[in-house]
Amino acid sequence: MTSTIVLAAMLIGLVPGAATVEAEAREILDELLRVDTSHGNESAALRPVAARLVKAGIPAEIVEASAGRGNLIARVRGNGSRKPVLLVAHVDVVPVEGQSWTTSPFIPTERDGFLQARGVNDDKAMAAAFVAIALDVARSRIQLSRDLLLVLTAGEETASPFGMPWLAKNRPELREAEIMLNEDGDLQLSADGQRMEAVVVDVTEKVSTNFRFVVKGKGGHSSTPWTDRDPVRSLGKALVKVGEHRFPARAIPSVREALGLDSRLANSHLGLARIYQRRQKYAAALAEADAALAADPARTDAHYIRGQLLLRLGRKQEARKEMTAAAGVGGQPGAAPLPSPELLQDQR
Ligand SMILES: [Zn+2]
Repeated sequence: MTSTIVLAAMLIGLVPGAATVEAEAREILDELLRVDTSHGNESAALRPVAARLVKAGIPAEIVEASAGRGNLIARVRGNGSRKPVLLVAHVDVVPVEGQSWTTSPFIPTERDGFLQARGVNDDKAMAAAFVAIALDVARSRIQLSRDLLLVLTAGEETASPFGMPWLAKNRPELREAEIMLNEDGDLQLSADGQRMEAVVVDVTEKVSTNFRFVVKGKGGHSSTPWTDRDPVRSLGKALVKVGEHRFPARAIPSVREALGLDSRLANSHLGLARIYQRRQKYAAALAEADAALAADPARTDAHYIRGQLLLRLGRKQEARKEMTAAAGVGGQPGAAPLPSPELLQDQR
C-alpha cells in the first residue's frame, strides 16, 4: 500500500497539469528569446531545447545545413496507425537594426501585461508551445495514433536555404506526415477575452512564382539607338505586361468555405472589420471596429483589432494605447491575445 502511494506521488510529479505546461512553455520561450537569432545562430537557441526533449525521453537532433544554422527534429512516437503530424515553427527572427526599440529586443520584458522581445509573436512563442506540448505528451504517456514530429527551423525570415528547403531535400521522412501545422492563421476570442470562439486556419491557397527575364538585342551607339531591337525597350514592355496581367480567379474548396464563413461574419461590425483586415483594407476595417466599439466600448476583441489596424496604418502611439486597453478591459491584463511588440516596431 505504501509503495502504491509513493508511486502515485511520483506519477503526480511526472505528469504535469495544464498550468505546468503553460509555465514550461513560457520558460522555453524566455530561453529562445534570449538568443539573438536575427542573423543565424539558431543552433545556439535550439541546444537547450534538444536537451530538454532528450531528458524527457524524446529523441531529438539538431541538423545543420551550415555552421550554426541548425534545425531541430524530434519525434514522439505514436502507435503508427496513422501517418505523422508535423509541427513546424521557425526560430530565426527579423533583424532589429535601425528600429527604435524601447526595450532590449533580446531580453524578454513584461510591460503593461504584454511580453516584449523580438520574435515573441513570430515565431518563438509557437516554437515554445510546440516543445511544451511534445514534452507533456511524452511525459503523460498519452497514446497517440500518429507520431508527433516536431521541427524547429532556421532561416525562414531571410528566405535562406538552411531551413525548410534544406530539410525537404535532405530529410525525406518529414514528407511522410499527413498533416502539417505551422505559423499564420488567427484566433478569435469572445468579447471578454476569456473564451476561444474560432481558430482560423490558413491553407495554401496561393503560392508565389518568380520569373526571370533575359532580353537579347543588338548593341550600338546611344546617338543612334535601335528602335526595333532595343533590349531595354523590350524588357520595359514585358515588365508592364507582367504587372498588368491578372490570372483568372479560381476558388479552391477551402477558399469557397472561407468565403461562406465570411458571409456569416459580415452580420456584425466586428465581423466586417475582420474581413476588411484580412483583405488589407485597413481604413475600412478601422471604421467597422470603431462602430463595434461605439456599440460596446468594453469589447476586448474590438480593442485588439483596432490596435492591429492602427499599427498597419502607422499610428503607433494610438495602437499601443489600444493594445493596452485590449489587455485590461473586461479581464485580467494579458487576457487578450498577446499583441506582437515587434509589429509595433517593425517597418516591414
Ligand atoms: Zn514567421
